This record gives sequence, C-alpha cells and structure tokens, in this order.
Amino acid sequence: MITRSPAKVQTATPLLATDNSWQRQLSQAIRSPEALCRRLDLDPACLPGAAQGHALFEVCVPEAYLARIVPGDPHDPLLRQVLPLAAEAETPAGFVSDPLAEAAHTPRRGLIHKYAGRVLLIASPTCAINCRYCFRRHFPYDANAPSRAQWQQSLDYLRDDTSIHEAILSGGDPLAASDRQLAWLVGELEAIPHLRRLRIHTRLPVVIPERIDAALLDWLAASRLQKVVVLHINHANEIDSSVVAACERLKRASATLLSQSVLLRGVNDSVDAQAALSERLFEAGVLPYYLHVLDPVAGAAHFDVPDEEARELVAGLREILPGFLMPRLVREIPGEASKTPL
Ligand SMILES: *Cc1c(COP(=O)(O)O)cnc(C)c1O
Ligand code: SF4
Repeated sequence: MITRSPAKVQTATPLLATDNSWQRQLSQAIRSPEALCRRLDLDPACLPGAAQGHALFEVCVPEAYLARIVPGDPHDPLLRQVLPLAAEAETPAGFVSDPLAEAAHTPRRGLIHKYAGRVLLIASPTCAINCRYCFRRHFPYDANAPSRAQWQQSLDYLRDDTSIHEAILSGGDPLAASDRQLAWLVGELEAIPHLRRLRIHTRLPVVIPERIDAALLDWLAASRLQKVVVLHINHANEIDSSVVAACERLKRASATLLSQSVLLRGVNDSVDAQAALSERLFEAGVLPYYLHVLDPVAGAAHFDVPDEEARELVAGLREILPGFLMPRLVREIPGEASKTPL
C-alpha cells in the first residue's frame, strides 16, 4: 500500500537503533528510591526504608524492567526484587558478605575455579539491575575488574590447564561489558584448543532485551565454541514479548538457552508461580536449569525460604509439570565439588 524509498528506511533505522540502544537505556536507568517510588506510584511511606537499603546497595532499574511492574502494588513480584527495604540492615546470624567463600577460589584476578572442567570469569564488574538478594552484593569488584594485562594471566591459566573445557562469563553481568571487549575475550578463548564451550551467565537479555543487538550477535554467532546462555529469570512476568524476541535472536546465533532462578520469599515461593515460570520459559524457548535456594548474604535474609518448604514446593511442582520443565533445586555449599541438590 505505501512504498517507502529505501534511502528513507536506511536513514531511519540507525537513528532509531541509537535512540533505543542498550547503553542509552542503561544510562537512563532509575538509580534512586525517590525516582523509583515516583515512577511506580508507590506510597511515599516506603521511602525511609528504601533509603536505608539504598545506602547499603544502590538502586538500579532500567525502564524496560519497570514497564513490567504494576504501578502502586507494593507486592508486585518484580518490584520486590528491586525495591530496597529497611530489613536489609538486619544481619541475622549466618548471613555474611561472602557466603560462597569465592575469595578462597580466586587463583587469578577475576577468575574463580571451584569445579572440575569449568572456570568462571568475571567479565564485567557491573550489572544492568541491582537485585536486592544478590549474593555478590558485597563482592569486591574493584579488586576483580582485570585490565588487559591481567586478562592475559587468566588466559594463561586456562591455556595451562587442559582439563578445562568450558569458560563461563559471569559478573556482575558479563553482557554489561562492551562488544569490543567481549569479542576480544571470546577470540582469545577460542584460540585455546581444549576449550569447547562458552557459557554466559546473564540477566541483561531480561532487563534490557535490546542488549541482544547486531554487534553482540556478530561475535557470538561467529565463535567456534558451543554456546550456552544461562539467563537469570525469577518470575513469569519478567518475560514479555521483547524478552521472547531477544531469546529468539540468541537461538539464531546457535545458543542453547537455560534459566536459573533464586527461590525468593514473596516473589516466586509458590507452586503456581514456579509452574507459570517454567511454562513461560518454555514458550520463550528456554529450559529451566537451577532453582537456587537463597545464598545467605547479609541484607537478604527477608527473602529466605526454609529448606523444608522449598522441598515441598518442588514436590508439588513435580506433580504438575513434565520432567523437562523441572528446575533442579540446589544450594551452593562452599568447598563442595558442585552445586548440592536438596
Ligand atoms: C555455579 C558455578 C559454576 C557452574 O556450575 P554448573 O553446575 O556447571 O552450572 C562454575 N563455577 C563456579 C565458581 C560456580 O559458582
Ligand atoms: S543481575 Fe545477577 S549479579 Fe547482577 S545484581 Fe542481579 S543477581 Fe546480582
């Protein structure tokens, strides 16, 4: 009906892309309790508590994620993941700053080697969202953000250990790094003959789906390594059509898509919520991988679900879901050779 001239399309497309680029969305993320409260029409009575939590771990939520939160509802399961509370100042016994004892398994700056055959690399110190229950909320990223020269030491470590077949990019969020940096790193990893797999642990495709852009897909699709992207998704409402589209783009770059979640009080601590999450993941072409019980990090105790309740929940889930939609309920215990099934 309407024929646009190709020239017009060409000039319009890059402009639009820049406008909505992930970097711009990230730079415009909400970073204060006041702005969060205003944007979501929350009762201002929540502000003093939010300010207390914010002082411990700052607020960060991009608009694409905010858009999936129901305004004015203090119990929204997505809001609970990002709104700071006064309860974060409480530190019950057992809730500590490095619950996974990662500091003891860091042979090179930014490299964590706990499990046989795979190594975790801190590819970016930052995230696109600050999740209140984050087990790395106290992580000393400044001491672990490697320079190029330090990256060479991590790469040497991988080259020297032929038992390592998988490199896991983690963070922070590894996809918060630039594509230039990531393309360089993946190129270096690819040149290590005994590496077979590249795994990326990320929440960015959920928080800012536009992160899965042409520049990222270029280096990802070109890699000889087998690619696994483990998304971090806790609730069905986190998966809107733009997230589904981002997952489709990743699949076209031949990535296998999995999801890990954290079992969180008031967010996804019911059979219904977990079943809806698994079903919605599968609709997006993603299989559930792990359901983690909360790591006992200081500031997150109010999200804790007792083990007994977690087991009951998973038993209830097993009664209604096909086996391939069942996440594995696990805990990370420092010193163990893998995640521990509950
Ligand atoms: C969780 C984790 C892994 C990956 O474990 P999988 O069971 O293979 O998913 C690897 N290294 C570290 C340090 C981890 O914490
Ligand atoms: S995206 Fe992951 S690493 Fe980043 S704050 Fe959330 S839970 Fe922590």
